[in-house]
Amino acid sequence: MALVVQKYGGSSVATPELVRRVAERIVRARRKGHDLVVVVSAMGKTTDTLIRLAGEVSENPPPREMDMLLSSGERISMALLAMAIQDMGYDAISLTGPQAGIRTDTSHRKARILEVDTSRIRKELSEGKIVIVAGFQGLSTEGEVTTLGRGGSDRTAVALAYALEADQCEIYTDVEGVFTADPRIVPEVRKIPVISSDEMLELASSGAKVMEARSVEFASKYGVEIHVCSSFNEEPGTIIKREDPSMEKVLVRGMALDTKEAKVTIRGVPDRPGIAAAIFSPLAEADINVDMIVQNVSEDGFTDLSFTVNVSDLKTALALCEGTQARIGAREVTADEDIAKVSVVGVGMRSHAGIAAIMFRTLADEGINIEMIATSEIRISCVVRRGEGERAVRALHRAFELERE
Ligand code: ADP
Ligand code: ASP
Ligand code: MG
Repeated sequence: MALVVQKYGGSSVATPELVRRVAERIVRARRKGHDLVVVVSAMGKTTDTLIRLAGEVSENPPPREMDMLLSSGERISMALLAMAIQDMGYDAISLTGPQAGIRTDTSHRKARILEVDTSRIRKELSEGKIVIVAGFQGLSTEGEVTTLGRGGSDRTAVALAYALEADQCEIYTDVEGVFTADPRIVPEVRKIPVISSDEMLELASSGAKVMEARSVEFASKYGVEIHVCSSFNEEPGTIIKREDPSMEKVLVRGMALDTKEAKVTIRGVPDRPGIAAAIFSPLAEADINVDMIVQNVSEDGFTDLSFTVNVSDLKTALALCEGTQARIGAREVTADEDIAKVSVVGVGMRSHAGIAAIMFRTLADEGINIEMIATSEIRISCVVRRGEGERAVRALHRAFELERE
């Protein structure tokens, strides 16, 4: 008998009918004799609706109250799913993240899982129950309810799979696995049967929403193999695992589009030692992730500096930069939300040059201007105008012939 952790995303439980369909799937797995721990996300767009609701009563909702609010989304779906399973004659119990033993740090809205106390889940399993766990939430070291950041239910599943030493960690979603690009943007995408965690991590942190980036990082660190598949059919999906010699080293495995970043530019920055530290330290202290950074060549001892942050951090980042601007005597701080980041990813780039050249040529042929460039060992990213992002992805998908088997 295997212990299987399954996770169902928001679109897989968006309606009562879908909740019952998921319940049927779970019951089928149960009939095969598996012990099941099922992580569930909030129904459909519930989390977005709750965020909007908060915005209607408060300019600046306190993070603690936001987490109390947002964690309620997953409470609805977990209870409905447990009811549906019980209605089918099987024993199930729903647990919130705190009840399930998910312990986190105190960082509201982007908490890190510190440990999982599995005693409650193990007790329920030993009584023969199917355990349903609310994703995306935990209890902080100060006894507060926290949430893990958007898409964080994936992390609940991976952390539980690790802590329970599960035989399988299955992520069920509304697509059949990880594709060479977002199937909503590129019609000719191909499913990737096996992908290395390094590549998946780069794709996920570049905007490929199918897996949350920090979950992939967690899984890679602790050696949890993930199976991403569809909650709507039985097709084999994608295996995400640490790179091994049997894996094909393709030049470009896939590409991603990120429309959730914004560019901050600080103009007229005095070009002297310590300035970058003065600008980025306050952002780091506020737990704001800075992605691409570009500094212009300085003229007359002054320079311009641009960087990108997640749009959800933009307001705070701007406020912090305006404080720094006054302190260091820079000229102005501006924001630009009308950008998109296009990235191509593949482990083969480690040993082959020329991918960047093809990428730049392809964008040039499309008449798309590149505003910022960043690279890692296995990724190249370009910032372009927001409105040109999807066209850029389609052109690159063709240029790298990813539609071919
Ligand atoms: P869930 O609600 O199940 O967590 P998400 O919406 O977070 O699902 O992620 C699934 C979505 O990710 C898909 O509907 C798809 O549009 C998008 N996506 C982006 N890039 C990719 C990719 N490379 N492969 C598969 N899906 C992708
Ligand atoms: N419900 C949360 C979100 O929408 C968590 C998740 O779906 O993984 O971000
Ligand atoms: Mg998701």
